[in-house]
Parts: sequence; structure tokens; C-alpha cells
Amino acid sequence: MGKTLFDSPSFANHEGVHSFFDEKTGLKAIVAVHSTARGPAVGGCRMWNYASSAEALEDVLRLSKGMSYKNAIADLEMGGGKSVIIGDSRTQKTPELFRAFGRAIDTLGGCYYSAEDVGVSVEDIAEARKVTPYVLGLKDGPEASGDPSPVTAEGVFRSTLVAARRLWKQDDLTGLTVAVQGVGHVGGYLADKLHKAGAKLVITDVNVQALEEVAARTGAQVVAPDAIYDAKADIYAPCALGATLNPETLDRLTVKAVVGAANNQLATADIGQALFDRGVLYAPDYVINGGGIINVASEMTARQTGGAYDPAWVEAKLVRLMETLEEILERSAAEKRPTHEIADAIAEARISAAAVEKAQLRKAA
Ligand code: NAD
Repeated sequence: MGKTLFDSPSFANHEGVHSFFDEKTGLKAIVAVHSTARGPAVGGCRMWNYASSAEALEDVLRLSKGMSYKNAIADLEMGGGKSVIIGDSRTQKTPELFRAFGRAIDTLGGCYYSAEDVGVSVEDIAEARKVTPYVLGLKDGPEASGDPSPVTAEGVFRSTLVAARRLWKQDDLTGLTVAVQGVGHVGGYLADKLHKAGAKLVITDVNVQALEEVAARTGAQVVAPDAIYDAKADIYAPCALGATLNPETLDRLTVKAVVGAANNQLATADIGQALFDRGVLYAPDYVINGGGIINVASEMTARQTGGAYDPAWVEAKLVRLMETLEEILERSAAEKRPTHEIADAIAEARISAAAVEKAQLRKAA
């Protein structure tokens, strides 16, 4: 007999896992709700041509748990969840498919809110919005939070300043060199901010046009994609791919800090330990790239209260995010443990505390 959902290593005590099928549109979707302890589960919808439904299930469970941690570490009143639609996003997308997806998540009554992820666009989410209020990441209307990239870049920039203060005892980036890998949505905004704060930049990208534009604006030195790991720099800012911190790159990087936007930067947890052992300050990815989800959370707050997107609320949460980063760095030094472990411990403690509080409220009711 094959493994059941509950035996899967990725099950991780999910509160709910829901499968949806719509015959008319061919929709096959799985919604995973890891935790609603801190509020409704929020996480994007990924459309991917999975080889099997078992593969789709593994992916949605892994990503959903990750969202619980990301939302908790950003101190948002949101739990963690994620959804996947099984199919080819280039050939199988239709407006009807996303309305069927919207109807599916509507049946969950607001315990899960979806947004965009790989293979799913703002337009797809707008289609789902026609049939359910439980979607976020819209570009039109008073509550819409729009492009999250500038806020993500701002969070990563402020984190770079935190690193500069701790390692070089300076309040700006004068005299420091940052190697930026990927100058797309987030990396482009980040490069501008770093340049303005006095940093010298070494940049790379596989998109030559983006590279030329950013180099022209910032005077950055351009290098070939693989050469970024050998750049003579103080800080490495991965803003393209995951798993670029791996056994192969570790020995090439000579930086004192890693502060970037990419998700899942550590190929394995051992690499986080290795960075720590080498005295490299690693600002955990899912902590410092939380600006984007903070921006989306403002849309949920507006939706729930009937208000509008509020930049002041976003700013307050960004300030709080930097306090959490400082706490992680302090504890990492004091407890002699890598930063990614401390981040996970803080996220887990916040989720458990909320679960206990929720149980007590239930008992009192
Ligand atoms: P993007 O697609 O706009 O930018 C990524 C850039 O990396 C592109 O310009 C691409 O050409 C480049 N790239 C791809 N392969 C490369 C390679 N081998 N070497 C160098 N460059 C390469 O994406 P984005 O929205 O800027 O996101 C960047 C990273 O940050 C991703 O890992 C994403 O998951 C993460 N992230 C983004 C946000 C957000 O708000 N956009 C929020 C949280 C995390």
C-alpha cells in the first residue's frame, strides 16, 4: 500500500488538506492549510505541470508550512497555507479555470486566502476575485496592494544597513561592495537603494537588457552569471535563484554577509551552519524578504475592515521586521547557533503561543 497523507514527511500536522476537482474546466487543485493559529492561512497559488498528484501534494505541504513560518516571523495576524493547480500554465489556463478555483476556495469560508505564485498572474487572481473575496494581490481598487517588489527590496535594503552597522560599525554603505545576483523586480529596486546609500555594486543577470539598465543607473561593474560568487565583495545579495549557498559556492564566496531576497537560499541546513562557523552573517531569507507578504497583508486587513491599502501600516510592520532581525542576530551570537535556526525557533514559538491562546479562548467561550 502506498503512503497516506498522514505518513508523508511533509505532513507536519497540517490542519487541513483539501482536494478540488471541477469536471467542466478540468480544475485539479489542492489547498493545504498548515496553521490558522495566528489568523486565516495566507499563501499563493502555484500552477505547475506536476508529474503526479503525489508530487503536487508534497510541494503544497512543504510550501504551506513555509508560509506559516514566513507570516509568523513577519508578525502578521495570518496563518500559513498554499494551493497548487495541477496543469501547464502556458497551455491550460482559462478564465473559467480560475473562476472554478475561486469557487473552490470560497467553500473554505475564509480560512485560506490565495494570491499569485509561479504560473499564476494578477489577471488570474482577478478572475477568481469575481466569485470569492478570499484572494489577495490585486492591482485595482482601494484595497489593492499592487506590486510587492518595492517593499520586498526596502526590507532587504534595511537588512543590509543592519548588517553594516553590526559588522562595520557604519550607518551607510560607503566603501562597501555588494554583489547582486539578479536585477529583476526586487534586485533592480535594491541596486538603486544600495547605490544611493554609497555602496559599490557588482551585478549579474541572464537578462542582458535589465543588466545594462541597472549598470547605467548605478555605475555597477557587470560580471558573467557564474562569476558573481568570485566577486571581491563584502556582501552577497542573492536576488534570483534558490540554493545558491551550496558546497560549491561556499568556498568561492569571500563576503562577510549574505543579505538577499531570493527564497530558499540555503541548499541544505548544513550550509547555514557552515556559514555560521566561518563567521559569515547570514540574514535568513524568509525573514528579510517578508516585505512582500507584509504588503499583501495590508490588502487583507483592508478587505476585512472595508478600508483601504495603508502604507503607514506597512511601514510599521517593516520596522517590526527589522526588530525581529536584530533579535535573531543577537540570539545567534549569544547562543552560538546559526541564524536560520534562531529564526525557525522564533517563528515556532509565535505559532505555538497563538495556538495556546486560541485554545484558551475556545475553552472560555
Ligand atoms: P524576477 O524574476 O523579477 O527577477 C529575477 C531575476 O534573476 C531576473 O532578472 C532573471 O533574469 C535573473 N536570473 C535568473 N537566473 C539567473 C542566473 N542564473 N543568474 C543571474 N540572474 C538570473 O523575480 P523577483 O520578483 O525580483 O524575485 C527575485 C527573488 O526574490 C526570487 O527568488 C523570489 O522568489 C524572491 N522574492 C520575491 C518577492 C517579491 O516581492 N517579488 C518577495 C519575496 C521573495
